[in-house]
Amino acid sequence: MRPDILNPLFAEVTALKGVGPALAKPLERLKLRRVVDVAFHLPSGWIDRVARDELMVEDVGRTIAITLTPTDMRSPAGRGPIRVHAADARGNVVTLAFFGGNFGWVKKLLPIGEARRVSGRLDRYGQDLQIVHPDILDGDEAIREREAIYPLSEGLTSRRLGALAEQAVARAPALPEWIEPSLKARHGWPDWREALARIHADPADAKARQRLGYDEVFANQLAMALVRADTRRRKGRALSGDGRLRDMLRLPYSLTGAQARTVAEIEGDLAQASPMLRLLQGDVGSGKTLVAALAMLIAVEAGGQAAILAPTEILARQHFETLRRTLAGLPVEVAVLTGRDKGSVREATLMALAAGEIDILVGTHAIFQEAVRYRDLALMVVDEQHRFGVAERMMLAGKGKVPPHLLAMTATPIPRTLTLANYGEMDVSRLDEMPPGREPIETLVMSDERLDAVVESLGRHLDGDGQAYWVCPLVEESEKSDLAAAEMRAEALRARFGDRVGLVHGRMKPAEKDAVMAAFQAKRLGVLVATTVIEVGVDVPNARLIVIEHADRFGLAQLHQLRGRVGRGGGRSVCLLLRGSALSETSRARLALMRETNDGFRVAEEDLKLRGAGEMLGTRQSGEMAFRLATPEMMAELIAAAQDDARLLIDRDGGLEGARGQAARVALYLFDRDAGVQLLRGG
Ligand code: ADP
Ligand code: MG
Repeated sequence: MRPDILNPLFAEVTALKGVGPALAKPLERLKLRRVVDVAFHLPSGWIDRVARDELMVEDVGRTIAITLTPTDMRSPAGRGPIRVHAADARGNVVTLAFFGGNFGWVKKLLPIGEARRVSGRLDRYGQDLQIVHPDILDGDEAIREREAIYPLSEGLTSRRLGALAEQAVARAPALPEWIEPSLKARHGWPDWREALARIHADPADAKARQRLGYDEVFANQLAMALVRADTRRRKGRALSGDGRLRDMLRLPYSLTGAQARTVAEIEGDLAQASPMLRLLQGDVGSGKTLVAALAMLIAVEAGGQAAILAPTEILARQHFETLRRTLAGLPVEVAVLTGRDKGSVREATLMALAAGEIDILVGTHAIFQEAVRYRDLALMVVDEQHRFGVAERMMLAGKGKVPPHLLAMTATPIPRTLTLANYGEMDVSRLDEMPPGREPIETLVMSDERLDAVVESLGRHLDGDGQAYWVCPLVEESEKSDLAAAEMRAEALRARFGDRVGLVHGRMKPAEKDAVMAAFQAKRLGVLVATTVIEVGVDVPNARLIVIEHADRFGLAQLHQLRGRVGRGGGRSVCLLLRGSALSETSRARLALMRETNDGFRVAEEDLKLRGAGEMLGTRQSGEMAFRLATPEMMAELIAAAQDDARLLIDRDGGLEGARGQAARVALYLFDRDAGVQLLRGG
């Protein structure tokens, strides 16, 4: 239950004076639904204004406040603005321009011959001075030298938001302190409530801003530390494999150093009674599947079962085939279960699983369903689950009598800071070394005006017995238009290359999709046109060319993933990034980065710098909770301290039951990080 002390902050936004249905709408667009949301809607910048008695050319570019008397006004000629001429005390003249305004309203605002206090940015317009959309201050309204600028939506002004924030802050209670005292003292941070009041009054107040950012990061880390502590407390099962199965493996290559190190780390975890919580990060092609296979063999050697969860049907089948091939000749029973398996086949698999006749189960989310019972699930491997949040990880822990060990694998390179933010409760292994003999993929950026030349080189590639992917533009959040674009491209390519062209997209039935993939794998198809469904994991070593249309519309991590579809079979591989003609500086820099490096972790770190963490920290990218107050810089600077602080609180300072713990509990609710706590209590 939410602590009562927070009630005033968790009231609906309409509890604020002046917020009716009309204002609630633009507020909703900013996702400001509760008073606390308004309080946490921090200014993004500020204007410093200077008070002047006189208009001066030197002030052009500055925001000034000045008393002016309107002398005449003109209604717009055509599409032009309403223009009001006004003079200062010495007779210097400025034009006040209102675009799209209502003449009557302007007349009332600035009556001819009456002095008004006016504020705005002084510009030059031809020979004249001009202020566009000046603020007209009421007689009794004090002018602030520094005014906060808020992120806005249509129908809201910064002033309005500032006034609402002031109300929200007034409702905010003083809260008990959750930050470790010496940390707070070292940084010179104010109390929570004071910080909130200060940041809205003076957006440049770095201490106040930093304290609030820290609070958010701390709440985030605390939620994960709680999950971690809870997992640790639960008695799992120590697995010690005797190596008998692993010794039987006949691999055509030896492990990379990174693979060997990671397997050792995993083996160490599995030998503990507390369940493993490990994240394995490794770039596309770094050989995660083999690591997973070895980990699962340890579980089977120890007499348990293992399961591996894949994000898609295609990938589940592919893992199944790979494992069957890798483990051929070993006394290990591998089975597959996806949503597609129905009726008697499914029944048989379920029975065998419950009876312990299946050692390793490969599947999609189906393997989590209620009806799926394991005889003794000892290890769960989760591959490429972008949306595998804390809640899912906790649900998993509840599967089986004894919580299974968990290995999560991801090829989405995430900067270290974000790894901590999203997987703070896990231990991390990195496969930072590629299997030998892999040539770097050559990446070229080309204007989409050269499409014909691209199709020509695709033709040459196909004639040389090559295969290629052609990825179609990602249209914002609309699978339908993605599909239209892909279908059109497939049509156009078919006109040239006939039935060597296949199409696969997210709306196909799994069986259809698999059929197309199988045809591509068997080289019956030369080109696979696809929407992003090929993004994860698909393995066709003979495909050495990938064309990505409108590459500038993809995230860098996604581009990197897509690019990783090629370069899997040895020999030279090429990734062609087609770009639109009007590109922003940032887009240009991002594509240039793709050209420059094949290192996924570097791509991720640089991308974070290029566009800031705002987007990456949002729910869309990470599948986790968004950050509102902490900037990327704060994250980088403070997250390690927050993790230490959170773990210290749990390990030494009595957890949530101690005095500081009670305060920290408030912080969890304040930042909507309470889901974990509730789950903990629920089961
Ligand atoms: P990912 O990390 O993207 O899941 P995979 O596990 O699919 O990578 O491995 C990519 C390819 O590398 C596979 O064809 C696999 O057989 C091969 N591979 C894995 N480990 C090694 C190794 N140590 N030496 C050579 N090839 C390897
Ligand atoms: Mg993989």
